[in-house]
Amino acid sequence: MLRWMPIAVLLLAFAGGPASASDALEAEVREIERLAFTAHWRESDARIAALAPRLDSLAPEQRHRIEFVRLRTLALAGSQSAALEGLTGLLQQDLPAALRVRVYATAINVAANAEDWPLAFTWLGEGLSYLPEAPAESARLLGVASYLHTLVGETGRARDLALRALDLVESANDPRALCLALSDVALAEDHARNFQEAERWRHRQIEACTRAGDLVFAANGKYGVGKMAASQGRHAEALDWARQALAEAEAAGFAVGAWSARLVIAESLIESNRELDEAQTMLSETLRYYREQESDLAIAETERLLARLAERRGDLATALAHYKEAMAASEAAERIARERRLAYLQVEFDTQLKEQRIALLEAEKELAALQVTATKRRQLLLGMGMFGLLVTAILLAALLRRSFRERRRYRWQSQHDSLTRLYNYQQVRKLGETAFARARQTGQPFTAIVADIDLFKQVNDRHGHAAGDEALRSLGAWIGEIVDGRGIAGRSGGDEFTILLETDAAEAEALLQRLRGRIGPITVFGHTFSFSISSGVCQADGQAATLEQLIHEADQALYRAKHEGRDRVVCANDDADAAPVPTAGLVVVGSGIEFGRHVSERALSEIREAQVVFCLADPFALAMISSFRPDAINLGVHYADGKDRRQTYREIDAAIMAEVRAGKRVCAVFYGHPGVFADVPHRVVRKARQEGIAARMEPGISAEACLYADLGIDPGRHGVQSLEATQFLVQDRRPDTAGLVLLWQVALAGDLTCTRFHAERDGLQALVDRLLRWYPPDHEVILYEAARLPIETPRAERLPLRDLPTAHYEEYTTLVIPPGTGAGSEISRGVRTDGSI
Ligand code: GH3
Ligand code: MG
Repeated sequence: MLRWMPIAVLLLAFAGGPASASDALEAEVREIERLAFTAHWRESDARIAALAPRLDSLAPEQRHRIEFVRLRTLALAGSQSAALEGLTGLLQQDLPAALRVRVYATAINVAANAEDWPLAFTWLGEGLSYLPEAPAESARLLGVASYLHTLVGETGRARDLALRALDLVESANDPRALCLALSDVALAEDHARNFQEAERWRHRQIEACTRAGDLVFAANGKYGVGKMAASQGRHAEALDWARQALAEAEAAGFAVGAWSARLVIAESLIESNRELDEAQTMLSETLRYYREQESDLAIAETERLLARLAERRGDLATALAHYKEAMAASEAAERIARERRLAYLQVEFDTQLKEQRIALLEAEKELAALQVTATKRRQLLLGMGMFGLLVTAILLAALLRRSFRERRRYRWQSQHDSLTRLYNYQQVRKLGETAFARARQTGQPFTAIVADIDLFKQVNDRHGHAAGDEALRSLGAWIGEIVDGRGIAGRSGGDEFTILLETDAAEAEALLQRLRGRIGPITVFGHTFSFSISSGVCQADGQAATLEQLIHEADQALYRAKHEGRDRVVCANDDADAAPVPTAGLVVVGSGIEFGRHVSERALSEIREAQVVFCLADPFALAMISSFRPDAINLGVHYADGKDRRQTYREIDAAIMAEVRAGKRVCAVFYGHPGVFADVPHRVVRKARQEGIAARMEPGISAEACLYADLGIDPGRHGVQSLEATQFLVQDRRPDTAGLVLLWQVALAGDLTCTRFHAERDGLQALVDRLLRWYPPDHEVILYEAARLPIETPRAERLPLRDLPTAHYEEYTTLVIPPGTGAGSEISRGVRTDGSI
């Protein structure tokens, strides 16, 4: 204002008249924009308020710009729904293309923050169509497009879009655009889990945003560096960055950023075991905020940290309660992610539709041109007499028929899925709403079916996309044939189909059995393959308030069908199927490290079908198993602080064998792979067999398997020596320094009493002293912990060998010693640099 006011006054004084007044107003509008975009929101708001009495003298475009600034500030201050409503209204106004694209970019961000995915993707589709008219705004919208693709898991495409945007702004010399583009690239790398790359981009972001004076994105960059440092186990550094980010976000009034920074601070405090009270307070406030915002992913993350904190404090009951909450929030977030994905697919579909529409318009243009030519010809022919007239009439009739056919084709395309020729999802919903309302009025039964091809990704992977398309096309034809006009059938997206019938569930199930019988082998390019489908059925019970709820119930039943082993029909209205007759014996299965992802279908069905289930797993896996086997017996109760673990193992052995000997069908679940670093599972299988009872072990995913995947190590490259740390120490084993050495349960190194659960410095020092015989003190080693929850990241902390005694340990931390090189190989022959042996 100080910069502009004198000029405005001068212009008014000397020029007078409307032109100078409007110049002054334009200057004022620009100043408001400048203030808002450099995060001086209080000043920009004050100026907007001061401008209110003069709003009528602004041009419509200026009023729209002011409104845009006001709504953007509103959204940044956290009033998402009010901002969304305002932005929807603003987009209905007549805006110049450049402003419109800018409004779209902001509106999409706000919709995404408010988790209104259909709106965000619809706006993205609309916004992208304006880009040719507003090339200068391309980078901004491409950045937003990258962000949305990140959120639907299209990380490769997100990265490409962000890099395209960065390319554009790097040549344009616009510091703020550069700041935003760098933040998008960093975010895409973060989501693609390229943490080191993401951190590098975040540093560039901080530098560019500070230079551009954008306090919000500079704070966001610092938060990003903190988060990346935390992901790589550098908690002290993470704490430092996150605290800076918090202070700056608060100073800039950037509430959303401040809450994110608090999460990183709390995580770093917990992981470095410091100021746990501060972490607790911070997390409680953060949880309250996210619950108010109903932001499930953030709730899951906060609950996970609270669980971690409770675990640190040894309060396992509270930890379990928080893990359950985290799990519930994660499930909700996954549901939202599905909705997000659906919204994305929908927009992709709409885009294709638009392209078809354009092709149609071009065809109509061609038709119009033809009509003009035809008219000319007709005039010529008029002179040539009646015969010519007749020919022209015939030609025109043909053209009109073609136009009519084109229109019919266009309507068909807007209602159908072109691949399967069934209805598209919108049309199923539209026709379904009418049929559902009619059925409710007349009291007729009404049933929804949701069907999905089993393991369809494998069809694509093994036989190619064309074969996948052929499978979809054939299934569409079979569904059309079986439904035969007696219901509404459509493709809801991907490999999922929705069928709505005015019948009861029993008839719907009979129809599905006919469909399953009809599905036969398919041959594409000489390859023959088959597939099956799983279906969920739900009949409206008179209370299902909406069609949407009914389809949701059928979708849940489909989920159960998948979970129970696929190739089946599950009816939401039925009770659980009768339990199969069990056969006696023992099966030992592994929970994997991350139960939800690692447990095999086979293990799940053993757990479900056993008469007695024993479980020795982490609290999270235990909670998941208890959700469908509430009678599962927790073997964890045999452990106690200070109790000799050998006694614990004897008790577990006795508990399992008692049920096996009683002739029950017993399933025992053990953490990870049941046969790796676990004596009891092998022992009970052996004992049962010796007593003539059938017993077997199902393999599971061990921490070692996770380690190779997470650290990108092929054990076949140099060979691997895999030992328990205590075994290594006590049996005086010699490491094979040419290969990889893995020492398990390193925290318990040297614990001959078998009673400890925590790290002790003496044991660790003894381990380091032993290793120094073969490796130099600065040999880089890795402390590894596999992720146990989908919301956790694995730990892979690199540090010099000498620092091991002061590092942080969990009971399950593994020490990874890469092969010795250079000086190390000399040491590996037994000669230490100080001359001793
Ligand atoms: P599940 O049994 O759990 O359903 O396993 P799935 O492999 O079928 O998993 P999901 O249903 O999630 O995967 C659907 C796959 O369908 C993902 C995508 O690669 C593929 N797909 C989606 N649309 C098309 C399409 O139009 N053509 C082809 N060929 N494949 C498609
Ligand atoms: Mg599928």
